[in-house]
Amino acid sequence: EEKKSLNFIEQIIEDDLANGLPKEKLRFRFPPEPNGYLHIGHAASICLNFGLGLRYNAPVNLRFDDTNPAKEEQEYVDAIKYDVQWLGFKWDKILFSSDYFQQLYNWTIELIKEGKAYVDNQSSEEMAKQKGTPTQPGINSPNRNRSVEENLELFLKMKNGEFEEGSHVLRAKIDMEHVNMHMRDPIMYRILKRAHHRTGNNWCIYPMYDWTHGESDYLEQISHSICTLEFKSHRDLYDWYVDQVFNETKLALRPKQREFARRNLSYTVMSKRKLLQLVEENIVNGWDDPRMPTISGLRRRGYTPSSIRTFSDTAGISKRDNVTDVALLEHCIKDDLNKTAPRVMAVLNPIKLVITNYPEGKEEWLTAENNQEDENAGYREVPFSRELFIEKEDFKEEANKKFFRLTLGKEVRLKNAYIIKGESVVKDANGEITEIHCTYDEDSRSGSGTEASKRKVKGTLHWVSIKHAVKAEVRLYDRLFTDEAPDGHKDKDFKEFLNPNSLKIITAYVEPSLKTAKILDRFQFQRLGYFCVDKETNESNLVFNRTVPLRDSWAK
Ligand code: ATP
Ligand code: MG
Ligand code: MG
Repeated sequence: EEKKSLNFIEQIIEDDLANGLPKEKLRFRFPPEPNGYLHIGHAASICLNFGLGLRYNAPVNLRFDDTNPAKEEQEYVDAIKYDVQWLGFKWDKILFSSDYFQQLYNWTIELIKEGKAYVDNQSSEEMAKQKGTPTQPGINSPNRNRSVEENLELFLKMKNGEFEEGSHVLRAKIDMEHVNMHMRDPIMYRILKRAHHRTGNNWCIYPMYDWTHGESDYLEQISHSICTLEFKSHRDLYDWYVDQVFNETKLALRPKQREFARRNLSYTVMSKRKLLQLVEENIVNGWDDPRMPTISGLRRRGYTPSSIRTFSDTAGISKRDNVTDVALLEHCIKDDLNKTAPRVMAVLNPIKLVITNYPEGKEEWLTAENNQEDENAGYREVPFSRELFIEKEDFKEEANKKFFRLTLGKEVRLKNAYIIKGESVVKDANGEITEIHCTYDEDSRSGSGTEASKRKVKGTLHWVSIKHAVKAEVRLYDRLFTDEAPDGHKDKDFKEFLNPNSLKIITAYVEPSLKTAKILDRFQFQRLGYFCVDKETNESNLVFNRTVPLRDSWAK
């Protein structure tokens, strides 16, 4: 097996191990906020953290970072759990930051007693003004030197709901002149009179992300807390907070925050706020709309867990911001489905083909290979008869030598069936072709072993027997945005770049074996692309989503 080079996070871990960190102390976590569905960017973090767990045989927790009751919901918790498992990973424990609310509160009381935190009741504007700038130091709040007693009393009142939202905050007393703006007396608690999806109305003060995250890592004894680059400047504060509670005698391990670049994908947006906007404004049909970059959208689109894992590994992780080409994601799913998806015949843009020398009323069931890439995939029977559908694009009355499909006077093979020759066309009053008439070579049946069956003709067409075909609704997707970086424009809203043609719905005819296809079953429609059965399929309506066309260019 080919040995992959270590990524820089693995290198950090190797160094820590070499410097004496016992291997049994390695522990990781994936910490989603349950305020939306997971997307392909989260998959990078999931594959990284759970991948480390597998590599080092170390536990990985699924920790919900649920400190903002205004945006968090049980629906999201459930969806996140489902997606992580679907991707193929197993967590050690499911944990919630909200389970630490009491512990965080207790620690906070200690901090106040030590003179390291104070209640500020200035307006947020005032506090922002005092914060300074990256090049200018901030100035102290007039409330910075309240007595411990007063701070304890005010904080208790905050906790007991005696103050309005926004009227008071608790701040860490660090340094208003610190070069790192995050260290200038950051807010630890704010008042939010909102029911929390787990703690209900138990609390009306909620801890801020920074105060929660490192302490949660500490409580769980996470050795490496891996987050995205925008938290790099928070690292000083992460360390300061951990220092306040770190107790070598009790919990021996001091967690480390390390950062990697977010996964960005071309032609889409990834922020949950923007994805939520697309959902709420009905621009897409829910979080699992197959055009969404969410895990649930990709699943419904026909992506496999392994294709997403392969994509995450191949794209790798980086120390610098970058954009991954969506073509890589498409390549990964094509590569996977090429090996695993059964081949079937479906006609998306039908025109009638009549085989004039094939007996009327006759039908035969021909043997077709399910997947030439998989010797265990077996065979199925497809019905053949005198009248078939083929693709309109597969016929031209007159064509040059490079056209290897059907034309008058030339031969092509019908996949799994016979060699036919174009003879004539029937047109309507407008000159549109309504039928193509051809003849077949009755000795040329594929697999029959005759000389004629071995005849080489340029071009093989897929087809369905009209009498046996099943009607299906097929949803053809294109990119949701027309711009490579829709949210990268300062002066324009990302929604200005929505692709008006991102969904096209057509009626197709598919071979009858697909009658029994189940939701999420994936197929290659031969010569066309990969398709999967949509969840809206029912007794009377068979619905397919196009996962990706076979050709690398996008069908316009
Ligand atoms: P958003 O800004 O979209 O809300 P977030 O970072 O707030 O994203 P979280 O639910 O907090 O979303 O993310 C959970 C974990 O996944 C965090 O560790 C976060 O750093 C990581 N993550 C989120 N988005 C990406 C991304 N695009 N690429 C890599 N990791 C990501
Ligand atoms: Mg967020
Ligand atoms: Mg977050």
